[in-house]
Amino acid sequence: MSGSEVLWLSVFISLVLCCVLGGITLRINESKGYSGGFQWGFFLGILGIVIVACRPYEISYYYEIIAELKKDPQDAQFQDSMLTKLKNISSETPKSSDSVKATKRCDYCDAVNDANSSFCSKCGKSFKRQ
Ligand SMILES: [Zn+2]
Repeated sequence: MSGSEVLWLSVFISLVLCCVLGGITLRINESKGYSGGFQWGFFLGILGIVIVACRPYEISYYYEIIAELKKDPQDAQFQDSMLTKLKNISSETPKSSDSVKATKRCDYCDAVNDANSSFCSKCGKSFKRQ
């Protein structure tokens, strides 16, 4: 094999490899509700896969699932599968500080109070400062 043949072969192999990696990132990206994503794997290779895999789910994906749920309200099995899907996503998605409100329980009456409150909303006992 001549030098130029080896060069072309290696170019060909790396192109095929890039396309395969691009296909992987495209799939991961689309499964998360984004469009496209081929370029991540194609240009960045393994790093692109890591980036795409770490990406949070697109918010429109949630709407898509809800829309699908509404399509067939009679099919309980289908609804179950979509809800499981939704649960999996929400466990993967990092929660924002807004969605998770910090709470604390009262030592006296066990009522759940806002973490910032200084008195129990149920029994009125004051919370100890930490
Ligand atoms: Zn209380």
